Amino acid sequence: MTEQLIINGARVPASDGGTFDSIDPSSGEVLATVSKATKADVDRAVQSAQAAFEGKAWGGIAPAERGRIMQRIAQALRDRAEELATLESRDNGKPLKQARTDVQVAARYFEFFAGIADKIMGHTIPLGPGFLDYTIREPIGVSAQIVPWNYPIQIGARGVAPALAAGCTVVLKPSSEAPMTALRLGEIALACGLPPGVLNVVPGSGAEAGVALASHPDINQLTFTGSVDVGVAVAKMAADHVVPVVMELGGKSPNIVFADADLDLAAQGVANAIFQNAGQTCSAGSRLLVERSAHATLVDRLATRAKTMRVGPGVSDPDMGPIISRRQLETIERYVSVGTSEGARVAAGGARPADPALGRGFYFQPTLLEAVSPDMRVAREEIFGPVLAIIDFDEVEDAAALANRSDYGLVAGIWTRDINKAMSLAARIKSGQVYINTYGAGGGVELPFGGYKKSGYGREKGLESLASYTQVKNVCIRFGSGEK
Ligand code: NAD
Repeated sequence: MTEQLIINGARVPASDGGTFDSIDPSSGEVLATVSKATKADVDRAVQSAQAAFEGKAWGGIAPAERGRIMQRIAQALRDRAEELATLESRDNGKPLKQARTDVQVAARYFEFFAGIADKIMGHTIPLGPGFLDYTIREPIGVSAQIVPWNYPIQIGARGVAPALAAGCTVVLKPSSEAPMTALRLGEIALACGLPPGVLNVVPGSGAEAGVALASHPDINQLTFTGSVDVGVAVAKMAADHVVPVVMELGGKSPNIVFADADLDLAAQGVANAIFQNAGQTCSAGSRLLVERSAHATLVDRLATRAKTMRVGPGVSDPDMGPIISRRQLETIERYVSVGTSEGARVAAGGARPADPALGRGFYFQPTLLEAVSPDMRVAREEIFGPVLAIIDFDEVEDAAALANRSDYGLVAGIWTRDINKAMSLAARIKSGQVYINTYGAGGGVELPFGGYKKSGYGREKGLESLASYTQVKNVCIRFGSGEK
C-alpha cells in the first residue's frame, strides 16, 4: 500500500501517480512506498493552507481552543509512542531507545507550545495624554517547513508546534530518506481535530517538492533545516518573494574538556554527543578539544566505549544503528581516509563493522581520530557520521580560539570543575548554545536553539521561536484632545 500525501485533510496520491521507496538502512530493503509530491501537489497544499488560515475553522477559533487541540496531539503521540518509535527506528535506523526519546520530545513540543497558544501578547507603549498605542502579535500566515531525515518526528514537531500555537497553518516537506513519521504526525493531528488544511504533509524530492515549496509565492514564512548549501539556495528562492526564513543548518560543535573535569562524566557526555544517532545530528559534538594532560585518560575511556558499543539494526535497540544511506556511508569512509592521509590516527573504529550479519545495511564503527590538527578537513567540515576529531590544547586561550576556529557555531560543551573558567569561556564562544558539564538537555524543547555563523539564523525551540511565526502590528489611537 502506498503512503499517500496529506493535503487539505485527505490522504491523496501524487498528481502524476508518482512514488518513491523509503529504504530501511539496517537492511537496504524497501520499508514503504510513498507518494512523491509534485509541484502541483505542493501548490494545492499551499492553497489549502492559505484557505485554512483565512477560514473560520482555524483563523476564527479562540487561541485557547488551538491549545486544546495541540494538547490532544501531544497525548495521541504519547498514546502511540511505541508504534511511532518503531517506525522511526526502521525508517531512519536509529536505536529504538533514541526513537522513543524522539517521540516523547515531539509530544513535549506540542505540550509546551499548547500552553503558550493563549499567552502570545503584545505591549502598550506610552505616547502621552490622549493616545493609546498597543502592539499585537499576529500569526504570520502559511509556514513552509522543509526538514531533514535525521530527526524526522522531532524536527517536524519542533517547527509545526510553535507555528500552530501562533495561529499559522503549515506545509511540511519531510525528506524522502525518512518521511514516515511526518505523515503519521499529520494523520494524528487530523484525528485530534486539527481542521483540514492546517497541516499538510508533502514528502518528495528536494529538487521538485522542496524547490516548489521554497519558491512558492503564497507562503508567508519558511523554516529550513538541513545543509548549508541547500539552505543558501532555499533562502535565495524565498528572497524572491520577500519571505522571511529561519535557517537551521549544520555544525562542527566542540566539546572542550579540561584536565580538572570529572573525566567519567565528560567521557560519557562526549561519547553520547558524537555517537547518538550515529553522529547524524546537527549539534553532534564532532570535535573534542582536550587539555593535553588529560588526553591519554580521556581518549582511553572513549576508546573503550567506542570499541564495546553494540552496532546493529535500530529495532534491536543497539548502542548505535546504521547510517541513513549507502551514499552517506561512503562519504564517511572518504572522510576517514582523507583524515588519515592528512596525518590523523585512528584510535578506534575507522571502518565498516566486520560482522557479516550487518553486510547488507549501511553500518560504520564508532570512530575516534586523534592527532588531528585544526586545519585538517576532518576538523573543519561536517562529516555527519560517528567520527570524532580529537585536538589537544594547553591553555584556556587556545581552547577558546580552537572552539571558534570554525565556519559553524551551533553548540559547544565545556567540561571543568572550575566555574570561573567555564563561565569566562562560555562568554567567548561564538555559538547559539553553550553547555557546561552537560551536552543537550533532554531534547531542549524549552531552550532557544539555532546558529551563529554558517550554522544559520533565527531560533527554534523555546519561546524565542514564536518570533518567527508571528508579526507585530502596532495600533495607535488618538482620543480626546491628544496632540503629537
Ligand atoms: P539536506 O540539506 O540535503 O536536505 C534537507 C531538506 O531539504 C530535505 O527535505 C530535502 O529534500 C530538501 N531539499 C534538498 N534540496 C532542496 C532544494 N534544492 N530546494 C528545497 N529543498 C531541498 O540535508 P539532509 O541531508 O536531509 O540533513 C543533514 C543536514 O541537516 C546536516 O547538514 C545537518 O547538520 C543539518 N541539520 C540541521 C539541524 C538544525 O537544527 N540546525 C537539524 C538537523 C539537521
